[in-house]
Formats: sequence, structure tokens, C-alpha cells
Amino acid sequence: MRTRAVPPAIKRKKGEGQWALGYREPLNKNEENKKNDDGLNVRQRIIDIYSKTGFDSIDPADLRGRFRWMGLYTQRKPGIDGGKTGALEDEELEDKYFMMRIRIDGGQLSGPQLRTIADISTTYARGTADITDRQNVQLHWVRIEDVPAIWEKLEAVGLHTIEACGDTPRTIMGCPLAGIAEDEIIDATPQLRDIHDRYIGSPEFSNLPRKYKTTLSGCTSHCTVHEINDIAFVGVKNDEGEVGYQVFVGGGLSTNPMFAQSLGVFVKPEQTHEVWHGVTSVFRDYGYRRLRNRARLKFLVKDWGAAKFREVLEKEYLGYALPDGPEPSAPLPNRDHVGIRRQQDGYFYVGFAPRAGRVNGELLGVIGDLAEKYGSGRVRTTIEQKMVILDVPEEKTEALADELARHDLQVRPSTFRRQTMACTGIEYCKLAIVDTKQRAMDLIDELEKRLPDFDQPLSINVNGCPNACARIQVADIGLKGQLVVDDNGDQVEGFQIHLGGRLGATFGKKVRGLKTTSAGLGDYIERVVRNFDEQRTDGETFAAWV
Ligand code: SF4
Repeated sequence: MRTRAVPPAIKRKKGEGQWALGYREPLNKNEENKKNDDGLNVRQRIIDIYSKTGFDSIDPADLRGRFRWMGLYTQRKPGIDGGKTGALEDEELEDKYFMMRIRIDGGQLSGPQLRTIADISTTYARGTADITDRQNVQLHWVRIEDVPAIWEKLEAVGLHTIEACGDTPRTIMGCPLAGIAEDEIIDATPQLRDIHDRYIGSPEFSNLPRKYKTTLSGCTSHCTVHEINDIAFVGVKNDEGEVGYQVFVGGGLSTNPMFAQSLGVFVKPEQTHEVWHGVTSVFRDYGYRRLRNRARLKFLVKDWGAAKFREVLEKEYLGYALPDGPEPSAPLPNRDHVGIRRQQDGYFYVGFAPRAGRVNGELLGVIGDLAEKYGSGRVRTTIEQKMVILDVPEEKTEALADELARHDLQVRPSTFRRQTMACTGIEYCKLAIVDTKQRAMDLIDELEKRLPDFDQPLSINVNGCPNACARIQVADIGLKGQLVVDDNGDQVEGFQIHLGGRLGATFGKKVRGLKTTSAGLGDYIERVVRNFDEQRTDGETFAAWV
């Protein structure tokens, strides 16, 4: 008798939890929390209940989940070392205070807005204030009791914290010089405000699979790094001389870095909000919700490819086809806006560098005073953790630069001051393994002393854990915080080294086995930079050299 061969077991691919394919039942704890109650609803509970009954009364599902929809995270208890990260329960690791992220969409601040943030920092946040690499300001030590009063002050000047964190459309980044830079392709401010006003805080998009990062810019230096955002509108001019946007989708870093893909379209300015709505709806409906580590838009874009993504967007969401459009120009080597430059209207802007984004409430007040004394009061935050004062008459620019320098805010910073960024790190972040902010600030000082004449572009990004809040994969030298073993065999704070990352081109390579202790970081970087400086050929970049 012949026996029939048994077919190999058919491997069924598990669904990815996409709503559009019928997976409406939550497949993990985060999805369950979101289904149980919209994150936006926590605002009223904070105002009516938690601010009156105190930290200990907060429902854990709100505290460690929905509070993020209001820009609030619990912060790390001081003194808990990096070895305990991941080993302790949340309640053992966290303090009874909050980090509060204030949205600054487009990085645009008026004088009264800056003064309000400065005042909130000194009154409610022990003077803390960090400029983030998404143009926000982060405060620490915020008590739940003070949150309603802080919101009232922010809202009185048109600021807020809604959807600054959580599985939501986060702060929309824009060129800080939108409407100001002489060489911009388009001032994206009207479209940025339009998207913000229509959709931020709307229940239509308050339950996305994960965080969702937008940029909209007409800046020729591509300062908003469209390559690593979920959705990016990049200013272009088509063959008919019309100005509009090319659209990129699916960029992101973290543990699976991917560059965004161009959809190859041309979007007229007045269509921008529809296209944003369409792309965001694709993410909401088709985005993966089974596993948190596959829930960013980049995984869907990688699996589908740009052509299919565009087809679904046009057929299922827009109901019309977008015309093909040109690709943007190549980015300039330095994408920040530090220094003194002419504006469109003949005034000048003055961009300056704090160290690793760290300022404080008092200093923000000083910056507000200087912006009023020398300019119109308008200030911008950049995505490189820097700031810009606008509308300065040419003859006053040097006096302003001198006054800023007296407060350690450099208009002509060293390479190290200009291009070193750091994430929050162990000081406040519950996921951190090592210190970052202070380490980066010390590193800048050390390198300025050791290598006073080094003037080549070189970015150093310092991260406190394997996440990528400080964009380590696209830095010349990316430092990923971890515990390492020192010469005495002890576990100490240190970094895994990544070298040669370049935005849109290549991710930094992890140098196998190359780690340094935090204490040895200055020596390591000095060695690398000296070698680069001695061996590079004319015009050779660090990424090309390594
Ligand atoms: Fe925290 Fe890690 Fe992000 Fe740094 S990179 S802020 S340590 S999560």
C-alpha cells in the first residue's frame, strides 16, 4: 500500500492586529487600555479628581498610560542606578513627580509664550527646562496638584501639552525659520497650523497603533530631518513652477532604524491637511497593533512598499490620484540654524547653542528679555536642541551675540558645542541606564579644551539606553548607553559606539566590541577625532572617513 506523503505543516502568519482586517479586539495591554477609555479623557480626571486627591489616588492605567496623552510621564526616582533599570517595578523606579512636555509645534514661540514657560519652570518645576530634539520644552518635578494651574497658564497664551506623548500625533516639527529664511521654498506655517488645529486632540486620531511623528517644512537645509519621521511634507517646486510638497512616509529610528520612503507625489498646499488625514488614517486602520515593537508606521511601509502605500492612500482614503512630483534637493551638510543670517525682510536672525539643550526657567526669562530688547520678542526652538532670536536689526546682532555669550549661549560655538545632543538620561528617565545630559555637557567642555582648533562638522549624539531619543544612528559618533566592565572588572556606566551615521544615507555602524566607560569617553573621542583630523583628505566627511 502506498502511503501518502504528509504535507508539511502550513505556517499561518499571525495577523498583525490591523483594524482594517477585522482585528478589533485588543491584542496587548496597551491596546486594551486604549480601548477601555480614550487617552484624551484623562484630562478632565486630572482637573476634577487627581489634582485634588493627589499622586497616590491615580489609577495605574491612567498614571502609566493615559497621562501620556496629556504630555505627562512619571519621572525616575533620584539615585536609582542604571543596573536596576528593567529589574524594578514601575512603582519602585518612579518618583511622585512628572516630566511635562510642552508642545511647541513648528518651534514657534512669541515673547509672552516664552515668558509663560519661564515662569512655569521657576514656579512649578524647580527651574528645570530642556529644549528637546523635537522642538519641545520639557519640565521636570511637576506635581499633580499643580497641573491644572500650569495648563491654565499655557492655554492663556495658546500653548498646551495635549498629545505631546502617547500613541498620538506628536508635536509637528517645522523649520524654525519658516516665513523668515531668505532661501526657503515655501513657508509651511499655514499648513502646519491647519493640521494642528483640525486634528490635534481629536478623537479621530487619539488611538493610533503607536506614536506618530510629523514634519512639514520648506527649508532648503531640510532641518526637520524628514528622513526619520513617520510622515514628512517637504517643500518642492514642480516643472510648472508651482510650489507644494513631496511626501515621505515610514521613517523612524529606535532598535529597527529605517529611512522614510518618498511617495513620489506632488501635494498642493491646500491639499496638505487631506493628505495628512489620509496617511494618518492608513496608519490608524492598517498599522500593526499586535506587537508594540512592530507598531510604528515604518513596519507597514517596509512591508507594503511606497507604491502600494500610495495606491491605498489614493483609492481608499483620498478618492483621487495625486500627480507625480519632484524629489527635494539634497540637504546641506549642516542642518541647524546657529549663527547670524539675513531674513527675507532685511532683519537678521541669531541662532545660539546652549549645551546639550539644557536651559532653565531663569535663563528662558533672560532669553525673552534679550529677544524683546534686540528683536520683536519672537523666538524659535530647533530640532538640534538650539534656539533662535528673530527680527534683529543688523547693527545690533553683535551686541546680542555678546550678551548671549555672557549667559553661556554661544552664537559661534565650537563643533562640539554645536553638534552634541543628549537625551534625558538617568536623571529623570525610567528607561535610562546611564547619565547623558551632564555627561554630554562635561564632554563638550573636555573636547573644547583638548581640541581647541578642530573645526570640521562632527555630530556626537548621546543616548541613555537602546532607544533612539537622541538619534544615535544618524550621528557621526553615536553613543548608546549601557553598563560596561571597567579595567577593575566592575560594572560601570558606559557606551556602545556607533560610527559614521548620515541622515538619509546610512545608519551608523556598531563597532563590534567597541565600548567605552563613561569616564573614558573624553579620551576615546579625542583619539578618534585626532585620527580623523590627521588622516582626512580635503572635504572628506567623518562618515566617509570611517
Ligand atoms: Fe530615556 Fe532611552 Fe529615550 Fe534616553 S534614549 S530619553 S534614556 S528612553
